[in-house]
Amino acid sequence: MQSDIHDTRLYSCEFFPPKTPEGTANLRTTLTALAALEPAFFSVTFGAGGSTREGTFEVIKEIQANGLHGAPHISCIGTTRADVQGLLQAYQDIGVKRLVALRGDLPSGMVERGEFAYANELVTFIRDVSSNAFHIEVAAYPEYHPEAPTPKVDLKNFKRKIAAGADSAITQYFYSAAAYLRFVHECEGANIHVPIVPGIMPITNYRQLARFSDSCGAEIPRWIRKKLEEYQDDLTSLRAFGLDVVTDLCAALLDGGAPGLHFYTLNKHQPTGEIWKRLGL
Ligand code: FAD
Repeated sequence: MQSDIHDTRLYSCEFFPPKTPEGTANLRTTLTALAALEPAFFSVTFGAGGSTREGTFEVIKEIQANGLHGAPHISCIGTTRADVQGLLQAYQDIGVKRLVALRGDLPSGMVERGEFAYANELVTFIRDVSSNAFHIEVAAYPEYHPEAPTPKVDLKNFKRKIAAGADSAITQYFYSAAAYLRFVHECEGANIHVPIVPGIMPITNYRQLARFSDSCGAEIPRWIRKKLEEYQDDLTSLRAFGLDVVTDLCAALLDGGAPGLHFYTLNKHQPTGEIWKRLGL
């Protein structure tokens, strides 16, 4: 039984579109190294307000051209129905079969939200215009979305995205296995039965992680924060600690029945590759 579950688990990696020639060269090295691990797909983020739309497409095109599976993110911010329809066609033309549909966040100074207010509207539109051409992933928040007034309201809104036709979800990152397991339990109680794959953020840089976490509402538990603060400039110890903590988290999630893992690679292959190896995936 356990091995059946294991066989159907999906392991995937996320990239962001690079902005410089050095970043592009680095991402090629990362893609080659991680492709050797045979993840189910590589997703590529969509910059705030559509700022990396072309970049996302270019990276996806390269992934597909390498015989791998790309999963572009598409967000609502600054997007029209016509834009999305054009993008869907372009992605279908290069063989893309999976999308990550998001609302996105309004970048500072930008006022135009676009034609979709929430991710559930984007999912409905994608299903309307492209039927079942794509497997649609949406975002989930085990520690709840920072704008949600209550966990109950957030769960209701998450359910709207599934009802609109999403096939599965990837979570915001977190460092508490208990928060994820409870969230999945609450989803089952609310009749949400799609796979909810934990998003995993390797720990390699304390300041960057603290900044991300403040903005997206992901909690760094005190004991982890204290250790990271202590290591600050001792990167060797910080990374060794980060690998131990995140590998233990992944093992607890898989033991608890998580249907896979999605790694936020930040375009680096070493941390994800090392955790992958330690878990024996
Ligand atoms: P939604 O599901 O629309 O939810 C946003 C908020 O509105 C929540 O508080 C929810 O409770 C509430 N809500 C939802 N529907 C309704 C409704 N119908 N009526 C009233 N309230 C509602 N951002 C990017 O810009 N680009 C990316 O590529 C990107 N990739 C991501 C990948 C993953 C796996 C995750 C977890 C996040 C990603 N994000 C990305 C960040 C994401 O865009 C933000 O977290 C954003 O604030 C919410 O997006 P969402 O799709 O979850 O929004």
